[in-house]
Amino acid sequence: MMEDLPREEMSRIWRSLVELQRIDAESLAVDQRLSALPAKVDAEHQRLASKQAALRDHEARGESHARERRECERQIAEREEKVKRLQAQLFQVKTQREYDAIGVEVTVLQREISDIEDRELALIEAEETHAREIEALRRAVDELRAGTAKEISRLESLREEAERTREVLLADRPRHASSLPDEILRRYDTLRLRFPDSAVVHAVESTCGGCRMGLVNQTMLQLNLGQRFTYCEHCSRMLVPQEKAG
Ligand SMILES: [Zn+2]
Repeated sequence: MMEDLPREEMSRIWRSLVELQRIDAESLAVDQRLSALPAKVDAEHQRLASKQAALRDHEARGESHARERRECERQIAEREEKVKRLQAQLFQVKTQREYDAIGVEVTVLQREISDIEDRELALIEAEETHAREIEALRRAVDELRAGTAKEISRLESLREEAERTREVLLADRPRHASSLPDEILRRYDTLRLRFPDSAVVHAVESTCGGCRMGLVNQTMLQLNLGQRFTYCEHCSRMLVPQEKAG
């Protein structure tokens, strides 16, 4: 148990404690903000990467449509060539049977050509639709890339700002910590493990500002005398008279 202190000394210590807690709570918040940033930057990169992957996918499908269409053209040309050859042969046939056989072959080839042409037409339509989709995706990727760059630079400036704040807080802390009696500083640091931003609370109308439980008269009396450290009898937080807390 510490001996009683002069009221002015006690007031000064209470102010330092409140200030120390403000610094620690702000440092904690800054650290949380800083530790959340890399994941946010990653999420931005991933969003862009998945859109770019979708675009590559579409482009690859577009290329495969184009290849298929060229293949159709090749098959049509091949069959047209055959038909031409067969039609030329018609002038040299000697029998009706030969004539009919060539006729059947030509009909089959022409039907095949017509089927391939249908397929080619469907492919051309698909390619056109696809080209429009690719165009829209390219625009979306460009927009997203610009948005991502902007967001990442915003996060970067947030990080710089948070680091500057942390530096100021860290530079400020020793001044307040060293002005406290060792025993109080130890007690504060221990309490801080349980109550990271509310180890020091003020008593509001006979109620603990931390656990909200009513404080006994003895505690309130001691606190108002302002010469001794006072703790909440329920949660053990350090109590500060109301006017000292602001
Ligand atoms: Zn309490």
